[in-house]
Amino acid sequence: MNKGKELYSGKAKSVYLSDDPGALVMHFRDDTSAFDGEKVVQFARKGRVNNQFNAFIMQRLEQAGVPTHFIRQLGPDESLVRRLEMIPVECVIRNLAAGSLCRRLGVTEGEALTPPTLEFFLKNDRLHDPMINESHIRTFAWATESEVERMKVLSYKVNEVLKRLFSDAGLLLVDYKLEFGRSEGELVLGDEFTPDGCRLWDATTREKLDKDRFRQDLGGVIEAYEEVARRIGVPLA
Ligand code: C5P
Repeated sequence: MNKGKELYSGKAKSVYLSDDPGALVMHFRDDTSAFDGEKVVQFARKGRVNNQFNAFIMQRLEQAGVPTHFIRQLGPDESLVRRLEMIPVECVIRNLAAGSLCRRLGVTEGEALTPPTLEFFLKNDRLHDPMINESHIRTFAWATESEVERMKVLSYKVNEVLKRLFSDAGLLLVDYKLEFGRSEGELVLGDEFTPDGCRLWDATTREKLDKDRFRQDLGGVIEAYEEVARRIGVPLA
């Protein structure tokens, strides 16, 4: 599979054309960014860890019946994915209070959220990804009513599968962000699932093992990602 021209470069990944017009090469870089790209640092091994972490999770989700764009791993820091028409909406599921929920609603970090919450944000850096609701999605035609329903069903299904996977490894899945896209009339999970886009805490000590280590200058960022990968059984090359 040959890598063609760069199509898009995001904050931590670059996407390239491939020999197959229906597939793209997703390259995970060592860059880590926070606060809308204000803080950017390179961490050695990060691209490799995240690519392999993502491949493992996407395959688990496929096995559980969640359609994803993942096709196969091409190398340590690259994977082949289906080309999607992306929906510009981020779906966030929260099992425990953290991050922006605490800031917005004055909730104490770590409070259990029963049932888990689902929030939508518009994917727009310039506007700092504002929170939106289903009515906005419909009015501005970012997705159809049935696509919104499908995003909700799949977001909760991911929670069912991954909460169990992480809890079996002594980890709490605090929250995560998902992005979906369209492919041949089907709604498919796109983007990535890595510790860059979710919160994971040690179930006993509640130590943070995700990107909050970078956001909050806690140190040991990559070591934490590798620890989580090791615990859930990701074969790191
Ligand atoms: O910042 P906030 O608490 O709303 O983030 C909720 C979850 O979504 C976190 O796991 C965070 O890493 C993820 N997220 C993301 N990309 C964004 C916003 C949030 O991966 N643009």
